[in-house]
Amino acid sequence: MTARRTILVRLPKGKCDVDYIRRLMALTNLAYRGYEVWVPDLLKNIQYQIYGFKNYMGSLVFGTTPKKWLVSVWVPLKTFRVYADGSRKGDRNAPVVLDFRSNVIKLRQVCKNEPGYSIEVPMLKWVVERVKEGGDVRFAMIGLKDDEPYLALTAEREVELYQPSNYMLVIDVNAWNNGIAWGLIKNGNIIKWKPETPNLREIDTLYNLSVRLSREYGKLKRLGLDKTVEGKRLWWKIKRLRRKLYAKLRDYVQKLTHRLVKKALRHKALVIIDDMIEESRRELLEEKISSGLKKLYLMYAKRFVKLLVTQLQWYGVPYEFKRLPSTVCPICGHKLIQERDRVMACENCGFKAPRDKVPMLWITIKNQQVL
Ligand SMILES: [Zn+2]
Repeated sequence: MTARRTILVRLPKGKCDVDYIRRLMALTNLAYRGYEVWVPDLLKNIQYQIYGFKNYMGSLVFGTTPKKWLVSVWVPLKTFRVYADGSRKGDRNAPVVLDFRSNVIKLRQVCKNEPGYSIEVPMLKWVVERVKEGGDVRFAMIGLKDDEPYLALTAEREVELYQPSNYMLVIDVNAWNNGIAWGLIKNGNIIKWKPETPNLREIDTLYNLSVRLSREYGKLKRLGLDKTVEGKRLWWKIKRLRRKLYAKLRDYVQKLTHRLVKKALRHKALVIIDDMIEESRRELLEEKISSGLKKLYLMYAKRFVKLLVTQLQWYGVPYEFKRLPSTVCPICGHKLIQERDRVMACENCGFKAPRDKVPMLWITIKNQQVL
């Protein structure tokens, strides 16, 4: 199985011609649709790059077929790798050079429409680690995100799933305000379980502040004062707050994923994921949270599942998706009632357990019934 992981690197805006990158993206969009448009004022080798990729599209992480005309499509690029021991891989004329000897990534002629133009960014620890794990970065992409230039690097690796031991790691995913709950099961017994949530108070505070400032900014705009010094300052403040909020959420997702993957690897566990995001969506609608925050919570729960699956695949961890409802009794199948402190109780058979533990009990009780 080929596993892939991708990282985004922000490129120095001062050294990149955003309009040029936008043109390359438009050409890539046409290439995806099977059109070849040769633009006389663009460098030939860069245009060959784009058309030479047509057959690879499906294999790239970002390479999904664009649904709308002129939707932004990232430009696929080949890479040339120069390793620390002097060995080389890839096309010598590739626009992206990963130089592990000088610890730099070189971008040739994709940042500006000028013969011989190239820029360098420092080599990423992420790339070095993926290569150490046996990965190879054969492809890269360049594109714009919120009008900022980025480079995406995709590492790929052939992996074989390991044979699971007598351990299982069950991961129950909710909307992000309820976080996740994980349980480690050995021979059908829960030996450890724990709910995990991000620091909600901090997230709420950042979010509410950004909403309040956005309202103030809206007022200024209606008065035509948004371009004043005060208005611009406020806009920057809002932008900074949002960036901080997203960084916090992202950071939490990454750290949690990393911990869980490590746990699975340490025990050679079979991972079971219950992705209840759709149910959580309905539940979330009933809660008194602003709709913007609800969207964020769902978005980051989805990101968590995506990142988790990507990393499980990368490390060859076997995993399954399974429904483990926390509102249905694992013993008799009766509907559970939620009592105080998220305790779930069955009126039919007397079963009682903390809500976050119910998914794990589904696994252990079912196992015992089979035995
Ligand atoms: Zn019951």
